[in-house]
Amino acid sequence: MQPDRVIGVDVGGTKVLAGIVSRDGSVHGSREVETPVGGSDELLAALDDLVDGLVDDHVAAIGYGVPFTIDRATGIALRATNLSASDIDFVGRAQARYELPVGLENDGNAAALAEWRLGAGRGTSDLMMLTLGTGVGGGLVLESRLYRGWAELGHVVVVADGPLCQGNCHGRGHLEAVASGHAATEVARRLYGDGADAHLLVERAHGGDPAAVEALDGIGALLGVAIGSLANVFAPDVVVIGGGFGAAAGDLLLVPAEAAARREAIRPADESLCIVSAELGDAAGLVGAGLVAFEALDGER
Ligand SMILES: [Zn+2]
Repeated sequence: MQPDRVIGVDVGGTKVLAGIVSRDGSVHGSREVETPVGGSDELLAALDDLVDGLVDDHVAAIGYGVPFTIDRATGIALRATNLSASDIDFVGRAQARYELPVGLENDGNAAALAEWRLGAGRGTSDLMMLTLGTGVGGGLVLESRLYRGWAELGHVVVVADGPLCQGNCHGRGHLEAVASGHAATEVARRLYGDGADAHLLVERAHGGDPAAVEALDGIGALLGVAIGSLANVFAPDVVVIGGGFGAAAGDLLLVPAEAAARREAIRPADESLCIVSAELGDAAGLVGAGLVAFEALDGER
């Protein structure tokens, strides 16, 4: 067994990514499958299959980043906005199956940990991360420690009585309802027909299509409203935007987001607020899951 080699598993709303992660954040031999849409058994079977294909005598621990709220007292993953699975003991199951230390963290928290240690937040003490993917995940590092609460930053209200949120969330006008990849796909379909998606919207905007640019400008402005409001609570040194949709759209979202955030943020954040793209890109969740595995490993030594 090598104490510098773990398996990270990043469970997203659309895909599950697993790979061997080193302490420096490098990833080897990653494997990917579409996230099963059935219940808990189907999801767990897919995860077991991925990990079975990676685990060997050199792997020292396993870490899961999951889009669930987690009960810190029991370690049970309670529910996910965009998956039908619920009430899963990821840690207990994997410990019994692989006889290795196992870590578990919310996927947004794991991505925040990765960007803080190895990415765009290196050297800061307070970081806020928003991952724009199928949903909107969030994570916080406060006073140089990962905040282990729910940090469901995607479910703050940005439009009072606005559009219904996604999946299992019954709220309205949440950031996730207006700024996720799923929300962008709905906008794309209104503009370009049923076959369109967020990817096409971003592609058209990069190509200069005014309707696509305007749509992303509107999404970015709402993202900025949320960032400005959250900055007034947490005073982050840096705000990192990641996730598949966030990474693809880049400045098309970040420029209008920064203008809106500075308008809402109180002094001195109105001038100093720093919003950047995730340095680890779409891999932040996988690297973060690996770091969570190292924490589980180091905690046992
Ligand atoms: Zn919501």
